[in-house]
Amino acid sequence: MSNYLDSLNEAQKEAVLHKNGPMIIIAGAGSGKTRVLTFRIAHLMSQGVDAFNILSLTFTNKAAREMKERIAKVVGTTEAKNLWMGTFHSVFARILRSEADKLGYPSNFTIYDSQDSVRLIGTIIKELQLDKEKYKAKQVLSRISQFKNSLITVKAYYNNSDLIEADKMASRPKMGEIYHHYVERCFKSGAMDFDDLLLRTNELLTRFPEVLAKYQDRFRYILVDEYQDTNHSQYLIVKALADRFQNICVVGDDSQSIYGFRGANIQNILNFQRDYEDVKTFKLEQNYRSSSNIVEAANSIIDKNKTKLDKEIWTENEAGSMIKVMRTFSEAEEGRFVADSIFENKMNKQLTNDNFAILYRTNAQSRALEDALRKKGIDYKMYGGLSFYQRKEIKDTLSYLRLLINPNDEEAFKRVINYPARGIGTTTLDKLNVAANHYGKSLFEIIQNLDKVDLKINSGTKIKLQNFATMIQSFQISAKVKDAFEVAELVVKQTKLIKDLEADGTPEGISRVENVQELMNGIKDFITEQKEKGEDASLAFFLEDVALATSLDKEQNDDKPRVSLMTIHLSKGLEYQYVYIVGLEETLFPSAMSINTRSELEEERRLFYVALTRAEKEAYLSYAESRYRWGKLIDCEPSRFLEEIDDKYLEHLTPVRKQRGENKFLSSDIFGEIPQNTIRFKKPISKSGFSKPKPKPTQPKFAPPKNLKKVSKTIPNQNTNLFDSNITIGNIVEHQRFGKGEVLNLEGAGANKKAEIKFAEHGVKKLLLQFAKLKIL
Ligand code: ATP
Ligand code: MG
Repeated sequence: MSNYLDSLNEAQKEAVLHKNGPMIIIAGAGSGKTRVLTFRIAHLMSQGVDAFNILSLTFTNKAAREMKERIAKVVGTTEAKNLWMGTFHSVFARILRSEADKLGYPSNFTIYDSQDSVRLIGTIIKELQLDKEKYKAKQVLSRISQFKNSLITVKAYYNNSDLIEADKMASRPKMGEIYHHYVERCFKSGAMDFDDLLLRTNELLTRFPEVLAKYQDRFRYILVDEYQDTNHSQYLIVKALADRFQNICVVGDDSQSIYGFRGANIQNILNFQRDYEDVKTFKLEQNYRSSSNIVEAANSIIDKNKTKLDKEIWTENEAGSMIKVMRTFSEAEEGRFVADSIFENKMNKQLTNDNFAILYRTNAQSRALEDALRKKGIDYKMYGGLSFYQRKEIKDTLSYLRLLINPNDEEAFKRVINYPARGIGTTTLDKLNVAANHYGKSLFEIIQNLDKVDLKINSGTKIKLQNFATMIQSFQISAKVKDAFEVAELVVKQTKLIKDLEADGTPEGISRVENVQELMNGIKDFITEQKEKGEDASLAFFLEDVALATSLDKEQNDDKPRVSLMTIHLSKGLEYQYVYIVGLEETLFPSAMSINTRSELEEERRLFYVALTRAEKEAYLSYAESRYRWGKLIDCEPSRFLEEIDDKYLEHLTPVRKQRGENKFLSSDIFGEIPQNTIRFKKPISKSGFSKPKPKPTQPKFAPPKNLKKVSKTIPNQNTNLFDSNITIGNIVEHQRFGKGEVLNLEGAGANKKAEIKFAEHGVKKLLLQFAKLKIL
């Protein structure tokens, strides 16, 4: 692939060829940012830059692997192997391993995943005898995460009266104390959580100038993809490392900054020009990914945001199909619609499952979709949610492995000290805990020295604890001579873990045994792959790989093409021919938590922009009229984002059902077998500005039932009253979908003004006037 430069447009080529100095590529979705980054690395190498001197930071490890493969095609596999590429977390975990002693950590430190962290915080809350309703472990963890990503250490926290005050106001005055204990306990366990990997790297680079100098000298070229979503901690690391050579190339799109809620700072990209001298800025404006309808619709959405850099995106791609909008009665029907549509598209267009993605706002939405796909026999893979590595049996097995690598790992210890059951109860564990805190030792160190500490436990328990310690030590000895797979095999046998699961006998038990076997297969594959690549095949490295795999990296292990299901957050940077964005409903997307401030709403809108721009050929937007949320069936309003897309890009679909009377829930949810053909009609817009739904059935066999009026957008004219108009209580109004009704009440003001309306056919509803677009009769 020596002619790689020919596969770039002029703007892209210029960015690839620019060699030294700070540069930023700021451009909209699908314009080839990631492609430029990839080719730039290949080009640097072909110009003689040593792979060892290049550091590239990506959103997932999978993205890094794919980039490496592409680079290998240009420069050769051996050369590409030496590149440092991966997520911030995996790259800096690797650096921390080799420098750990400077920070007082063992090089075999454990990486706590969020489950471990939440459990540890739960323990601390209990030990401090705090109210666990006020101190919810997950919330406490995310607060601590905020501190760490802003580089606020425990000491800095105690010096910051604003933070202390804020926590008092939130009825959590003991936050500092929990933070303090949490940090100490992680340190004592030789464990770092995800945020520590960044925080400790910052600490390393600040406290040890010679270490900083070493890595500055090493990473002479630094490239960062998705720079718009870096947090403060990541920003500082990049800044420190790039400081000497200033060969820093960042790539991003402010319109795709979607991790603000996790501390990502959009200012990092906006301020890049200010941070470095003589920054060269590149703009890429041609989109290669999507049809022009999709590109233009996406532009029309993001235009609604006030905070954004000035940039346009256009494409030479053909207009393509309209973006399809689908209203369904319920989430179950939405699931069926998506599954049927995928099925139809696959058949009609000769596609495979991996051409499709279903994107949603929250993980909880996946269930109805999974059900429908399963019923239709469509293979899918789900990213995020409870991953394989977080299942209990897998965590238990991994905990043994973790413990033999790092016996101080407190969370691993607690998981397995009495699993499988060996008669060590919570009272004993509590005593061990007290002793560990008292002597400043780890739990494992305590059980190794039972003769020296007076735990007031009986001799039977003492023997059990000693046996446990001996067993772990024997594993450690084996680990010196056996490979990772053999050690793991020994562990599951000797601990009787598999036996315990087998004894269960239930189908769940059997599937747990299979999962552990799958883990063993995974270890074997890992060893083979690593050896083939000539890379580290140790158990310690396997554990690190598992801990640092992002939700996107944890893929199912077979080669079957599958439909991808994931949250929009995870879909960043990816592309699929057909994309289904589901649950476009007010308070779901945009989420209820985001509609109160402009900046949060803008982040939701960026999220919608990200979702839509994943699609190459077709995008489907769907919403349900009712949905189970928090265990309750609620009525839903279509998302304001649907209203925001210019009408000319939309085509409304209507599901065809057997006529089953008027009851909307009966018609889709209880009668189960309903023909799922869809009829299509383009939304007509009349001259007067009112849309008049005129269905043009392509399959005249099934006429749309009467009660399924098409949702149509009303374009304001003199007859239409908008949200700031003079609607008053008692007015008779007409809503496009709900028909006629009487205004019972009004509340709120401006954009938040709502009316309570009693509709003749649909009962009482509260509508946001801004979007309801009512006509006063
Ligand atoms: P996102 O903002 O979603 O991360 P991006 O700007 O990183 O998108 P890429 O993923 O690099 O865009 O490119 C989008 C698609 O367009 C890819 O399939 C890529 O291969 C293709 N592409 C980019 N540039 C060109 C080009 N010059 N010629 C042909 N295809 C291109
Ligand atoms: Mg990209």
